[in-house]
Amino acid sequence: MSVMDIFETMEYGPAPEADSTALAWIKDRQPFQLFINNSWVKPSSDSYLASVNPATGKPLAQVASATKADVDSAVAAARNAFASWGSTPGHVRARYLYAIARQVQKHARLLAVLESLDNGKSIRETRDIDIPLVARHFYAHAGWAQLMATELPGYAALGVVGQIIPWNFPLLMLAWKIAPALAMGNTVVLKPARYTSLTALKFAEIVQEIGLPAGVVNILTGEASQVGEALVRHPDVNKVAFTGSTDVGRSIRRATAGSGKKLSLELGGKSPFIVFDDADLDSVVEGVVDAIWFNQGQVCCAGSRLLVQEDIAEALYAKIRARMERLRLGNPLDKAVDMGAIVSPAQLQDIQQLVARGVEEGAELWQPSWACPTEGYFFPPTLFTNVSPAATIAQVEIFGPVLVAMTFRTPGEAIALANNTRYGLAASVWSDNINLALDVAPRIKAGTVWINCTNQFDASSGFGGYRESGFGREGGKEGLYEYVRPAALPAIDRTPKLFIGGKQVRPDSGYSLAVHNPAGQLIGEVGEGNRKDIRNAVEAAHAASGWASTTPHNRAQILFYIAENLSVREQEFAARVVQQTACTHAQAANEVQATISRLFTYAAWADKFEGSIHRPPLRGVVLAMKEPIGVIGLACPDEYPLLGFISLIAPAIAMGNTVIALPSQRSPLSATDCYQIFETSDLPSGVVNIVTGPHDILSQVLSEHDDVDAMWYFGPVQGSQRVEAASAGNMKHTWVNDGSPRDWLNTLHGEGEEFLRASTQVKNIWVPYGE
Ligand code: NAD
Ligand code: MN
Repeated sequence: MSVMDIFETMEYGPAPEADSTALAWIKDRQPFQLFINNSWVKPSSDSYLASVNPATGKPLAQVASATKADVDSAVAAARNAFASWGSTPGHVRARYLYAIARQVQKHARLLAVLESLDNGKSIRETRDIDIPLVARHFYAHAGWAQLMATELPGYAALGVVGQIIPWNFPLLMLAWKIAPALAMGNTVVLKPARYTSLTALKFAEIVQEIGLPAGVVNILTGEASQVGEALVRHPDVNKVAFTGSTDVGRSIRRATAGSGKKLSLELGGKSPFIVFDDADLDSVVEGVVDAIWFNQGQVCCAGSRLLVQEDIAEALYAKIRARMERLRLGNPLDKAVDMGAIVSPAQLQDIQQLVARGVEEGAELWQPSWACPTEGYFFPPTLFTNVSPAATIAQVEIFGPVLVAMTFRTPGEAIALANNTRYGLAASVWSDNINLALDVAPRIKAGTVWINCTNQFDASSGFGGYRESGFGREGGKEGLYEYVRPAALPAIDRTPKLFIGGKQVRPDSGYSLAVHNPAGQLIGEVGEGNRKDIRNAVEAAHAASGWASTTPHNRAQILFYIAENLSVREQEFAARVVQQTACTHAQAANEVQATISRLFTYAAWADKFEGSIHRPPLRGVVLAMKEPIGVIGLACPDEYPLLGFISLIAPAIAMGNTVIALPSQRSPLSATDCYQIFETSDLPSGVVNIVTGPHDILSQVLSEHDDVDAMWYFGPVQGSQRVEAASAGNMKHTWVNDGSPRDWLNTLHGEGEEFLRASTQVKNIWVPYGE
């Protein structure tokens, strides 16, 4: 080829990164063993699995296949290590995390090459994105370990954490899991994905190199059906952190229900990439490349649905096709390659089948004219246009390099299309009009919104889903709460109708339930709510969703007003408490006082529990906004009929949620007495709905309801289990008490940040600036 030819074609020569060091590293360690208690241990199965290079289809290494018995010994090692690691001072933990970050940087190139070989992703991405973000995550969490005592006072480590990660960002997902766990004083048993264990095993060596105490980090390779399941079900694991598919996440939610294990789930997505007609189209094209062809589209937050304003759609498609024609796909170790291989033949087959389905359903397919390598597992960048919003490819996560385009006319239509999915992981908004972009971002149901950028990640800013994309965050201060619990709380010594949509209504059943005092005397009756009443209440709560966009100041005023109206009727409410619980008048008066104070607390917080602004390493800012979760079901405690009820309602509505409350089943009359108070306090109809009746039935209906976004449950332990299991359907947030009582009079038990955090989720809006 002459210089002239090269000048004409602008063709690059191959520029492969050397793989000899990585291959020698692998060869020296064949076969890989399990990493338990800082030693390399043979799997009890004595069997090994091949890890394959997806770019060639050839085996790279043999990794141990762990069994349940190995899970038992790893958990035992982690439990043993927790005894001292859990009480190691934050500063000391910070030094270990810092040492890990330094060591990751020292071995950066080996890690990058290993990741490319094992996963098939391009060396450009592993070298410039995955590995630097891993180091950044450990540095940032060294800082959080240092600050834990002052920034999270009153919180303690959970204990042993079981962590399960996918294959798409093997080492980065490990970092997102291990760094916060260790920073907060937990010990870890981690299972890498079946196809991609090698960088986790190199990480285990780093753990040894820096002298992390034995048992703090344990790494078990193997099959989901062996290691994954055993870890999820292990009785001595205090928390499960999972990243992977929504289906597996759902099964883990069911398996851990009622176990008292804390759970975070980072699941799938079908994220919208919204382009308004005033956007800079050349930047948009590069954004699309990063959104859907980064990591071959095997990214949970990939911008896989391109939503374009109609008048520019054809022009944008033409530019995208021209750019696709120039994408370079091939040997992942070639530094000039944009796209590498798909992780496995099974994943490749899934992509092929969904693409065939798209064609069958009538969408128009476009792929570049060049051919993929025939060795290894490759799939070309693919664009579908003329796609109906209901088509399979518009709804199902493809998890491959396939972009699905649709058009809209107005911002309202764009938002409706964007939200037309069961997922809610991320979104990108492209417009040169900052007013429009910042108006649209909060209206998209997603944990992250990128404005004029995409696929930005940083340890400063939490990442995680809304809806069926899961719950919990990784990164940011909010991510730390996934790995702590409130330190031991102080010990504890000891027929109205329904209210739906702002009106008192008769229960659908037409039945009433008798209410007795502790001496067994009849003191009143309440309606017996049923499934239909709950459905109506959920509908009313939805219809009142405008509450979320009222100003925090306005919500504060209403909470103050409720408190004021309650204080006017203090005597009457105290008498009602005495009647139902047979406590002394002084105790009842105290409960009413505490209730008024609680309302003041949340009136105070309504405009003060604010988000933050992060400064990741980019020119721009990230706005971390605390948003309401939506419609929350509240099963109130039996004890403290008034205070227990208000303690749940007040934080939820202060943060902009609407609620369906099941008041104390034993003593519901204090809650039903609140009807008039709400009616006279300017609380809009439908914000608070009250359904009396049997908690086990009603909370089951709420937990199963797809239009309920969160469920809190304070009651017997079996009830907690049922709520968690039933919530898996739409992956709603749950907060249950596992049968342990609270002293609602005590402000440490009964109010504060824990309640506010349960009422909110963080949305991160990335706003880069500069021309
Ligand atoms: P997967 O759910 O099949 O597997 C994820 C991990 O879970 C693997 O380690 C696997 O071995 C393990 N696992 C599988 N079944 C299990 C079970 N029954 N019990 C315990 N563990 C089990 O997903 P995958 O195919 O490896 O990864 C792709 C999926 O992950 C995509 O849906 C993607 O959207 C999602 N993902 C989400 C995020 C996020 O942060 N939200 C990040 C990356 C990937
Ligand atoms: Mn592999």
